[in-house]
Amino acid sequence: MIRERHLLGPGPSNPYPEATRALAEPLLGHLDPEFLRIMDETCDMLREAWGTSNARTLPLSATGSAGMEAAFVNTVHPGDVVVVAVNGLFGQRMTDVAARCGAEVVAVDHDWGQPVDVDRVLSAHPSPAIIAAVHAETSTGVRSDIAALGAGKGDALLLTDAVTSIGGIELRADDWGVDIGYAGTQKCLGVAPGLAPFTINDRAFDRRVETPRSWYLDLGMLGGYVGEAGGRAQRTYHHTAPTAMVASLHAGLTRILDEGLEAVWARHQAVGDSLQAGLEEMGLELFAAEGHRLPDLTTVRVPEGVDSAAVRRELLERHGIEIGAGAGAYATSVWRIGLMGHNARPDAALLVLAALEDVLG
Ligand code: PLP
Repeated sequence: MIRERHLLGPGPSNPYPEATRALAEPLLGHLDPEFLRIMDETCDMLREAWGTSNARTLPLSATGSAGMEAAFVNTVHPGDVVVVAVNGLFGQRMTDVAARCGAEVVAVDHDWGQPVDVDRVLSAHPSPAIIAAVHAETSTGVRSDIAALGAGKGDALLLTDAVTSIGGIELRADDWGVDIGYAGTQKCLGVAPGLAPFTINDRAFDRRVETPRSWYLDLGMLGGYVGEAGGRAQRTYHHTAPTAMVASLHAGLTRILDEGLEAVWARHQAVGDSLQAGLEEMGLELFAAEGHRLPDLTTVRVPEGVDSAAVRRELLERHGIEIGAGAGAYATSVWRIGLMGHNARPDAALLVLAALEDVLG
């Protein structure tokens, strides 16, 4: 028997109960008409969550990093200039993935904990093919202004990581000029890890690589998989869709849209604010730059002289609470606390504050 945990780190978070229950429903075949209905509805609901009308909006059958790979492998032609805003671990990962796809990468480095400097990114190169940035940097707890990048992108495509923003904070892909976006299910969408919600507009799809180096993530072929050309009747086999996971995502999205996206965003903001206020009342120092803090993922400095790993171990063993270590150079000097999806609740915020107070003495 696995003991239940309070997953209050950078993800995965505890799923919405509806998403968990869906995993126990009878398994459907991936071409069963009932499954095709669930897939179609899931794509419709993903369009709402992304804030897009893109026809090509689908859950890729892999985690968020595969979403990142799909984004670059389908859109980077050899030698293309790709400007990447790097203000944390996932911006850094983008530079690696883009380079492997043959891009000439122009990395715009920032101090960790700071939001993306829009002017520096937009002036980094006169004519990039792609500008890429992370909306919500999970490694630092910072939100960046994607709309401002979209307003200034010119002819470039705007590629955005929304892994830690979708279903938790305001996200309006079309209004903000996002051409390509990828996300994950295990954070604010409140579903287990395993799918990468993905969206690409016609402008980006028309410029795509005809035969990308990845067969599995080839968006041209995946169109048939979600019935893009002519609806369900046209559905063709590409790979075996993870039907239970898609049913679970369907349940999570239904839960979110029943509550209302704006209400869900407000709930995340309110509990994030109360957690951050509580941490400061305890005398702890927040890491992310003020005014740019994510409500769903809070970074806090480990006090001088405190063993960061020992505290996390105590939280897990005594209270069944998982929080995250810091990332990169901040592995032992920062903690990361997530209140995402089903965990974006006042009782979860109080629980982690009380447990931290207990462990820190
Ligand atoms: N991008 C961001 C902002 C993330 O937080 C993560 C995971 O934490 C990823 C990408 C990679 O997603 P995954 O770990 O699901 O492959």
